[in-house]
Order: sequence, then C-alpha cells, then structure tokens
Amino acid sequence: MEHKKEQKTSATSFSDEIRSQLGGETITLCYQCGTCASSCPVAKTTERYNPRDIIRLSLLGEKQEVLSGGAIWLCSSCYNCQERCPQKVEIADVIYALRNIAIKEGHIPNIYSEFATGLMNEGRIVPTSKFVEKKRPEYGLPPLRPAGLDAMKKILAATGFDKIQWKKEGTP
Ligand code: SF4
Ligand code: SF4
Repeated sequence: MEHKKEQKTSATSFSDEIRSQLGGETITLCYQCGTCASSCPVAKTTERYNPRDIIRLSLLGEKQEVLSGGAIWLCSSCYNCQERCPQKVEIADVIYALRNIAIKEGHIPNIYSEFATGLMNEGRIVPTSKFVEKKRPEYGLPPLRPAGLDAMKKILAATGFDKIQWKKEGTP
C-alpha cells in the first residue's frame, strides 16, 4: 500500500512538472482514446514512437523511461494529433515540454548536442564545408553569407541557451 502511495505521488509530481512547463499544461486532459497515435505519421513508420504511450507513461510517473528512452525526439511536430485530439490535449507542445525537461536533466541525444555546439560556435546547426561551398555555383546558388555569429551569440545568451550543459548522453 505504501509502495502504491509512493508511485502515485511520483506520478502526480511528474505530471505537475510537465503542466508547469510552457506547452505541457493540457497533458492531464488525456483519456487515452488513441486518436493521436492513429493520426501520427511517425507512429506509422516505427514502433519506437507512439504519442499516446508517451502521454500514458508520463501520467504514470515513468519519468526516467520517458526522458531517457529517446522516443520524445522522434516527433516531427506536424501537429496532426493536436488538430484531432477530442480532449484538446496540445500533444506536440507536450512533447516540446518533455524535451525541455529532458534537456534540463541532461538527457540530450548526441545529434542535438552537435547542433547546439554548431549554433554557438559557427551560427549554424550544420557546419559548412569546402565541398559544399564549391558545389553551390554548379547549382546556380550564390555563395553562403556569413552566419551573423555576434547577433546569434546575443540571442543565445539572452535566452539562456548558452548556459545549458550540452553534454552528450550516448543516445543516437
Ligand atoms: S488523442 Fe488526445 S485524448 Fe486521445 S490519447 Fe491522444 S492525447 Fe489522449
Ligand atoms: S506532432 Fe508529433 S506526435 Fe503529433 S502527429 Fe505529428 S509527429 Fe505525431
């Protein structure tokens, strides 16, 4: 009984944490109908992703599984689910809220650490290469303009982006 009580407290505290984040406010409206999962193009392509499962696990307090499992990074933010949810759960925004919590707690897939590092160091998430620069004229494209790194650094500092510990977790 005591164990069950602890689990309940944990579930409540995780859903409260999600609801306190921008975008996470509606998560507790979910009644698990599955409309989101059947509307989701990503869920159609892989069993690793199912928005209903992410919401269910979150409401059950399975914080570690949700934050470190990797699935929350597969959402393509198409908002199909959000358009169709009968409970008006803002599912795509809930996924953003979960990603923000995951980042704060250091669960960051390598690829996003690399994007963030590129943004802070070069002002671009994908670094340019001599090869790409050489190829652009062949396709009628103008040379790349400088990324405006000073302005970018100001924005990253103002938003606190540059204070995040972009450590690598080992998640692909
Ligand atoms: S469509 Fe809405 S209510 Fe139904 S499972 Fe998805 S989030 Fe929950
Ligand atoms: S926003 Fe994400 S969860 Fe919703 S349908 Fe699109 S890919 Fe699926």
